[in-house]
Amino acid sequence: MQNTAPVVAANAKARTVTILGSTGSVGKSTVSLLEGHRDKFRVRALTANKNVALLAAQAKSLSAELAVIADESLYGALKEALSGTGIKVAAGHQALIDAAGAPADWVMAAIVGAAGVESTLKAIQQGRTVALANKESLVCAGPFMMEAVRKSGATLLPVDSEHNAVFQVLDPAQSAQIRRIILTASGGPFLRKTRAELANVTPEEAVRHPNWSMGAKISVDSATMMNKSLEIIEAAYLFHVKSEQIDVLIHPQSVVHSMVEYIDGSILSQMGAPDMRTPIAHTLGWPQRVATTGDRLDLTKNINLTFEPIDIERFYAIKLARQALASGLGYPTVLNAANEVAVEAFLARKLAFSAIESIADQTLQKVKIGPISSLTDVFALDREARAIAGKTLAALK
Ligand code: NAD
Ligand code: MG
Repeated sequence: MQNTAPVVAANAKARTVTILGSTGSVGKSTVSLLEGHRDKFRVRALTANKNVALLAAQAKSLSAELAVIADESLYGALKEALSGTGIKVAAGHQALIDAAGAPADWVMAAIVGAAGVESTLKAIQQGRTVALANKESLVCAGPFMMEAVRKSGATLLPVDSEHNAVFQVLDPAQSAQIRRIILTASGGPFLRKTRAELANVTPEEAVRHPNWSMGAKISVDSATMMNKSLEIIEAAYLFHVKSEQIDVLIHPQSVVHSMVEYIDGSILSQMGAPDMRTPIAHTLGWPQRVATTGDRLDLTKNINLTFEPIDIERFYAIKLARQALASGLGYPTVLNAANEVAVEAFLARKLAFSAIESIADQTLQKVKIGPISSLTDVFALDREARAIAGKTLAALK
């Protein structure tokens, strides 16, 4: 029988979306989700740093209105790649910030590192619904981000799988009755290695995560456990809880993505296959749900769920995060900046893996942190921390 339903005007009720950092790991997962729901979403803007070919292909596939390349020197290449498509092209830092602020119903903040602070903040200041993958922007400038959320009425939805899990099981009406938040950590590729065995691990070994496929920086952070450290700080700002209320448990299977324990002893968790499309879809559909086609968790397949306490002498980065949070405004900014410098050096084979946390530790001790009353102060401190981390690194040679 022929379908006689009236033809609905294409995209009649489509929501508009923007992806900041569409060519990265989270960005690509977001694009793939949108490709499965072409009728429901219209793409306002896609942005990337340097990957012209992929950005152009994504913009064509999703019929984006605008493609922005942050590296200004690549404007011509992007313009050429999209010529004849009708897709607008822009380049440079300001164009990226403008794209972040352009009207959209949902903005995915998936740039890596503190490089994502300004664009994430711009979307927040416009009162958008912001899906936050870029945890470093919160670690670097958390109190200012949260203040901007309050002022603008923006909706901030966590994409990080742990925080998304907590968000899913944390009933705001019961937030005063939370005993603790339990972040789970896979332990990364070196969970069973001793500190001595870590001395000579290579970037290739460090980015080979056992459960998740992710960008290089976060993969190294997972191997040092700095990722969990950044996530403790992220959780403290997002959920307004103290460091003491955030526990970390090693859970090598990455099935339970995190938990909330209430004062009556109930522990609520969110589970799923380790696939970022699930938390991304949760934020894309929120407060409804969006279907995904990825692997499903089959609970009959003999899933053995194990949880272990974390050894903070072995994973020293966790200690640094707790110290930074306890020390107050500015310390998390310094920790994040120093870690970014150290990870970049490690990936460029200019620093030993085991020295990453030591660069972070030394930078925290060396930087003089004055009063921080504005984002300008945060950016100045970020630059200062990077300079000191760079000098500390150079002195190691
Ligand atoms: P990635 O390195 O794969 O991608 C980074 C994206 O940011 C790319 O599109 C790149 O072009 C863009 N970018 C990088 N530097 C830029 C700059 N200076 N200016 C403008 N754009 C720039 O990173 P990823 O793994 O997708 O991670 C993105 C963010 O999401 C990170 O903050 C990470 O911690 C967080 N996150 C990632 C995962 C994951 O599974 N990959 C999970 C949880 C959280
Ligand atoms: Mg995470």
